[in-house]
Order: sequence, then C-alpha cells, then structure tokens
Amino acid sequence: MSAAPKNPTDIARETIRMLAVRRIPPTPDNYREIYAKVAGTPPAESFPEKAMKQLAAEIGRAAALPSMEHALSQAIAEKNWTQLAKALSAPLTDLTHLQQMAWGALIRDLFRQWENTASQLMLTQKREALEHVLQSAASNPATLFARLESLQKSWSQTRHSGSVEMFPADFSDEPADQAISREAPDGMAEAEALVLLLRELFVYALENCHASLNDDDLLAEECHALIEAAHSASTPKQFQAMRQKLKDFAFRLELLDEDHRELSASLQKLLRLVVENVGELVLDDQWIHGQIEVVRDILGQPLSQKNLDDAELRFKEVVFKQSQLKLGLQDAQNAMKSMLADFVEHLKDFTGATSDYHAKIKAISGRISHVERLSDLESVLEEVMQETIAIQASARQSSDNMLAMQSQVRQAETRIHELERELARASELVRYDQLTGTLNRRGLEEIFEKEIKRSERRHAPVCLALLDIDNFKQLNDSLGHTVGDDALVHLVKVARETLRPQDSVARFGGEEFIILFPETSLEQAAVAVTRIQRELTRHIFLYQNQKLLITFSAGLALYVPGEDQDALIRRADAAMYEAKQSGKNRVVTAVAPNADGADLEG
Ligand code: GH3
Ligand code: MG
Ligand code: MG
Repeated sequence: MSAAPKNPTDIARETIRMLAVRRIPPTPDNYREIYAKVAGTPPAESFPEKAMKQLAAEIGRAAALPSMEHALSQAIAEKNWTQLAKALSAPLTDLTHLQQMAWGALIRDLFRQWENTASQLMLTQKREALEHVLQSAASNPATLFARLESLQKSWSQTRHSGSVEMFPADFSDEPADQAISREAPDGMAEAEALVLLLRELFVYALENCHASLNDDDLLAEECHALIEAAHSASTPKQFQAMRQKLKDFAFRLELLDEDHRELSASLQKLLRLVVENVGELVLDDQWIHGQIEVVRDILGQPLSQKNLDDAELRFKEVVFKQSQLKLGLQDAQNAMKSMLADFVEHLKDFTGATSDYHAKIKAISGRISHVERLSDLESVLEEVMQETIAIQASARQSSDNMLAMQSQVRQAETRIHELERELARASELVRYDQLTGTLNRRGLEEIFEKEIKRSERRHAPVCLALLDIDNFKQLNDSLGHTVGDDALVHLVKVARETLRPQDSVARFGGEEFIILFPETSLEQAAVAVTRIQRELTRHIFLYQNQKLLITFSAGLALYVPGEDQDALIRRADAAMYEAKQSGKNRVVTAVAPNADGADLEG
C-alpha cells in the first residue's frame, strides 16, 4: 500500500478516485468524509454545533440578553445558518437604537433635577429613587433609559404640581418596550395602594399599643396623637414629621417597659422577703415549711404568669393553715395565761397565809415559854389548833386549785388535738395533694378556670388528659399500700419532668391523674402523654431492687368553648375507659361532643 498523500492536490485527487471506485455519490458531505479519511485527519463537522453552542452561551452571558441567547440556540439546534446570522445581527439593530438615545441630555437633565433645591423632594428620597431605578433596570439599557427619563420628568414636575412623587408611574419590572409605550400609570395606583396598606398596618400597630397603655395617660395621649397623624398623613413630608415623634414615643415606651420590669423585680423581692419571714415564723410546722420552700423555689425562677399562679395557690395554703393553727394557739395561750394568773394569786394567798402562820406560831411559842399554868397553855394550844386548821384549809384550797388548773391544761390540750383533727377534715379546702404534691380537685378547679379564661383570650386550644394507672390494685395487693403510694409519687415525678412547666398535673382520685395542657392541640397533647409513657419505661420504678413497670391508660379531650369542667372530664374519662377496654397502656382521643351535647369518644 502506498503512503498517504500529503499535499492537498494529491489528497483531492485520491478522494475523487475513491468516491468513484466505491461508487459513493459525490455529495459535499461524502467528499468531506472521504477527504478526512485520505488526509488521516479526524472527520470534520458539517456544522460546528458544540463550538457554536458554547459561543452562544458566552454571548448571552456577556450581553445579558436572554432573548438573543434563545434565538441563537434555536438556530444552532436547527443547524440553520441564515437564522444564526439573523440572531447575531439583531442586537446591532438595538444598538443603533441605543445609540440614538440621548444619554448625554438625559444625564444632564438628571443632574439638574438632582441639584434642584426648589423641589419638595429631599436628597435622600432622590437617592432612594435613583438606586431603585439603577437596580431594577441595570440589565437592560433601553429600560434603564426609559426609567431614568421618566424619573427625571417626575422630579421636574414635583415643583410645579406641588404633589410629591418619589417614584414615577412606570416603575414595574416589565420589558422595556412595554414600559416605554405604556401611558396609563398603573404602577402609581399600585404604589398608592401599597402606601395605604402600610399606613393601615401602622395605624393598627399603634392602636394595639394604645390599648395596652391604660396605666400611663401621657403616653396614651401621645400614642393617640400619633394615630391621628398616621391617619391623615399622605405626603412624605408628613410622614417625615412623624418620624421624630415616633422615635420619642418608642424611647418613652422603652422607659415604661424598664419601669415595669423594675417594678416587678421589686415586687418579687418583697414577696420573697415576706415568704422567708413567714417561713421563719412557722419553723415548727413541717408541712407549712415544705409549702414555703416551694413558694421560695417558684419565686427564684424567672417570673411568669404560671409561676405566679402556682406561688399564689401555695401561699393561700400556708395562709389558710396558719390561720387555723393561730386560732388554736391563741386559745391555748389564753387558757395558759389565765391559769398562770390564778396560780400566782393562790400562791400569794398561800404564802401570805403561811407567813402569817409562822409569825403567829412564833408569837404563840413565845407565849408558851411564859405559860405557867396548864389552863393557860390550853388556850394557847387552842389558838395553835385554830391557826393550823386555817393553814390546812388554805393548803387544801391550793391543792384543789392546782388540780383544777391541771384539768384546764388537759382540756386545752384536747382542744388543740381537736383543732388538728378539724384541720385534717378540712383538707378538701387545701389545694394540693399531700402525698404527691400535685394539685387536688379543688386546686384543679381553680387552675382550670384560669387556663380556660386565658386560652379564650388568646384563642388557643386547651387539652385535658385523664390518666388511670393500669392494674394498680394488683400492685397494692402484692407489695402493700406503701409501695403503691411510692409508685404514685414516682409516676408524678416522671410526668413532671417530662411535661412543660405550664402544664398542670392534678390528682383526681386514688390512682387517677388529670393533666391540663394550655395552648396545646390534641395531636401535641397526645404526643406529650405518649412521651410520659415512654419515659416510664426508661425510668423504671424500683422496689427493693425489683424493677416494676408502671403503665397507665389515658383519655384525651380538647376543650370546646363554653364546655364546663365536668363535661370535659367526662369525655376524657369515656376515652380513658375505651383505652382500658382496648388493652390498657394506651392513649385514646375523645371526639368533639355532639351538637346535642352528648359525650362521645373515639
Ligand atoms: P385498671 O387497670 O382497670 O385501672 O385496674 P386497677 O387495679 O388500677 O383498678 P381500680 O381502679 O379498680 O383500682 C384502683 C386501686 O387503687 C384501688 C385502691 O386500692 C388503690 N388506691 C387508691 N388510692 C390509693 C392510694 O392513695 N394509695 C395506694 N397505695 N393505693 C390506692
Ligand atoms: Mg381507677
Ligand atoms: Mg387503675
């Protein structure tokens, strides 16, 4: 085989020969293909698609003309040279158009308006408008030109018309040709609507602020003036005038807030002092002492409505129990006082009588030493007898008095014990369960009222869960009541640690508990109750190193506005019953009550 030809004439000749020999039609494409083969070069593309595509993308990026890029891509895809030429030359037409735009004159006019101090527009307003135009139309020179031109026009008209329009009408981000040809100032209506809307929002915010300023007349008045001003403001100048007032108002508001914070800190401090002192006064009552500790703890935490409510309830307990004890103590004290007074009185009589007796006996013994006759002695002895009888009577009376006093002391003691029993009987007045430290029914009632009012104010949902420990009787029977009690305490501890601080736990009955979830949906409450169940499997109750899994079944109900506590609990109870029926250790959600008020569970 001869060597491949090197010069183009030989290559061309060989190519034609091969076409003839192989009987290949001599089309340009076939010729190109054989030519490349003969020359030993890679086959040439008839249309350099890859290179063209790259070029189109680069042109599109550099010129920031997506429409041009699109036209080029289409021509390349169709391998159409004519279209390609058209797509490439189109911007030249635009360029001619751009060249015809009077940029010099426009820039001069803009500068003139910029420096025009007779205009009502502030420099900051002009700067803002110019920045907006530059940003919004930077990628398209034609749009930029049109917008700068109309900006310049609107600035120049401000002085004459008296109305201030920072932005001219046609500032929406439309293609340049539409923006230029449009007559109707739709953008202006839009801007006006926006200003109106913003003003409305502003007034709304101020009005809300005003509603909460009822304890500061001056500030409320200031706020009212601002609302009035905001209502009537329509020009930038008027809004500008409000700015300083608003700043002053915000500053005053900040001061007021600081005052409030200081006030609440002082109150908290004072409350802590009072509580500590009450604690000192009742050192000997363990129960009250415990309550005081809880209040002190609560007051040590950041102030919140829930904490304050808790502190209030606990403190009411202390005050209640203390008042009961005080009554009893006062009675006992009075009894003791009068007994002591009596005793001293008798002692006085008695010592008076004995000292008389001693003096008389002494005198008598003197007389005895001088007695010479028995008959005389007889009369002296008679006297001694008399005196002795008198002193005996006095001694007996003292002893009687002492006995009487003893019996009075016993009576006072009995009274104190009675009082204590009464106190225990009055335990339904107490708001906390003494075993678990949770709220009891009475405490629950109070918290329920409060939470319902709060949620209605905030339009927030409230949920209630009723928990009943599974097979609790069995635990009691096998390990004893005390272990049962410890299990209750354990459950409450785990629940408390798992729940949010704003959730309230109450002991509803023996081994039944209620949890109140403020600002919580049914789904969220179900998650919370399930979390307690899970935590109980992690923190197992231990009895003498024996692991005892405590489970419970729960019914969950969402409070329906207007529903009373009993009805809500009934719905939760029905759901809990269903949880028991369907295998225990689960949470069932109650459906909303029927329109006719009948309870339903789901
Ligand atoms: P169930 O799963 O159906 O709820 O079974 P249970 O055994 O828990 O059923 P039931 O509600 O009938 O039993 C409750 C038991 O709780 C009965 C009572 O002895 C016990 N109990 C009630 N109050 C207390 C308490 O304060 N301490 C202790 N240790 N046990 C209590
Ligand atoms: Mg039960
Ligand atoms: Mg039970």
